Amino acid sequence: MGSRFLEAFEEMRHQNPNRIAYFTSRAGQDQTLSYEQLGAHSDTLAFFLRSFAPKGLPVVVYGHKSPLMLTTFLACAKAGLPYAPVDVAYPVDRVSDILEQIGNPLVLAFADEPFPCNPSLAYDVVGKEAIESIIAGSGVPEQAWQVSGDDIFYLLFTSGSTGRPKGVQMPSRCVDSFMDYFQKLFPPCENPISFNRVPYTFDVSLFDIIAGLSQGYSLFALESECEQSLASTFDALAQSGLTAWVSTPSFVEMCLADPSFNSDLLPRLNTIVLCGEVFRNSTALKLIERFPTASVYNTYGPTETQAVTDILVTRELAEETNPLPVGYLNPEVRAVIRDLQTGEPLPEGEAGEVYLEGATVSLGYWKRPDLTEAAFTEHNSSSSSKIRCYKTGDKGYLDGEGRLFCLGRLDFQVKLNGFRVELGDVEQGIAQLPSIKEAVVLPVEKDGKVTHLAAHIMLADPDAPKDFKAAQNLKAQLKQTLPDYMIPKKIVFHDSFPLTVNGKIDRKAL
Ligand code: AMP
Repeated sequence: MGSRFLEAFEEMRHQNPNRIAYFTSRAGQDQTLSYEQLGAHSDTLAFFLRSFAPKGLPVVVYGHKSPLMLTTFLACAKAGLPYAPVDVAYPVDRVSDILEQIGNPLVLAFADEPFPCNPSLAYDVVGKEAIESIIAGSGVPEQAWQVSGDDIFYLLFTSGSTGRPKGVQMPSRCVDSFMDYFQKLFPPCENPISFNRVPYTFDVSLFDIIAGLSQGYSLFALESECEQSLASTFDALAQSGLTAWVSTPSFVEMCLADPSFNSDLLPRLNTIVLCGEVFRNSTALKLIERFPTASVYNTYGPTETQAVTDILVTRELAEETNPLPVGYLNPEVRAVIRDLQTGEPLPEGEAGEVYLEGATVSLGYWKRPDLTEAAFTEHNSSSSSKIRCYKTGDKGYLDGEGRLFCLGRLDFQVKLNGFRVELGDVEQGIAQLPSIKEAVVLPVEKDGKVTHLAAHIMLADPDAPKDFKAAQNLKAQLKQTLPDYMIPKKIVFHDSFPLTVNGKIDRKAL
């Protein structure tokens, strides 16, 4: 028993102790970790966590990209504890909400800025210096402590429609199945280096952590300052030696807007993995043109199941099949397409709601049996073991070759620059402000892609100013409760909302 991912990592550590496991764009020795260092530091930290962290509770890991973040993820798994990453981009109210939901967790804070504390919540915060002195010591955790089977490996908080983030619990066995399936996207090559670009709060970041580290890849991350401009990002990329790219299509589209994003900038790149939102045919064709020798993959999966599909996107596929398929399924996962009205399974070729069942489906939402029951079910397999199933909210169909196609959402969830956003989450954030009577948030699309959010607002005081300054003021207040990417770009004031014949707010008319 134990974690097969940890076992594979330790094997790599043993074979290549001096190989770089993680490095960032920030210069300095503390920004680079070898496999041996990552292994030894996470061993020592696991020792500390085992005696100091509350049993059974996830450890909150606060920061952005740094060797200490990755060290802690491994240390938690070695200590038999789940970890819950929280990004520095989260405003104080959201961080407090997560801490409150977990219930007095231990917080390891690695950001340059102080941890945004809410003094009314009881929890312990251990900072960067303290952790650095702990990992400078020594200690070997017992194999028996490791997460395994149904033990939660990580807890990822994602946007919730009722205005509170919800924590997706992913057990160790799902991580192992994910590793088995996606190792093939990280091919062996001389000095393999992958782009660990995606924030740790987003499951796409796990592609190279799990499938890459288990095969000896070096993970390259951009630290925050470098992410501020495309010019500094490109400078860092030119030095990186990347062989594998992992990102959302939105990020790659941003890069493609600059003609210098091509194989001269990244001459070693042989694999491009995209996930998290619609991968448009036009983007695929541009990528194939700019990186003619790289293999380009579309992959798909909600946080609740991890990524479950993949397909090699060739020029021919991108020219002939629109939309692109999201791919073939991990053989340990099955997609069932159900009729939107009756819930009955549909034959191939017919579109309905996508249900995913099998090895990588989450245990549900942390301490939210109501939400878990609404989205997850369980049934017996022929061998009477339990099969978990997740209702995705995606509309889609399977073709005769077993390829899954996604045709958009059936609910109010959108993808904005790769981030998953529930419109209800943003509406709740706005409605909480005392000056607001009612708020409706709508996505604004161009060429089938959400470009920004628009908030339609009725003020509590109908005579209050409704000008540019009032809109700016509202946005400034929202920074307290919502991450930047969720704040609507456009604010439209209304004296009243149009209503449907049933008396509901007419979202279409808005
Ligand atoms: P997240 O939980 O943030 O990973 O978001 C999952 C949702 O993003 C899915 O349920 C889909 O709606 C969408 N999604 C993810 N990958 C793709 C893809 N390759 N093509 C289309 N939609 C995608």
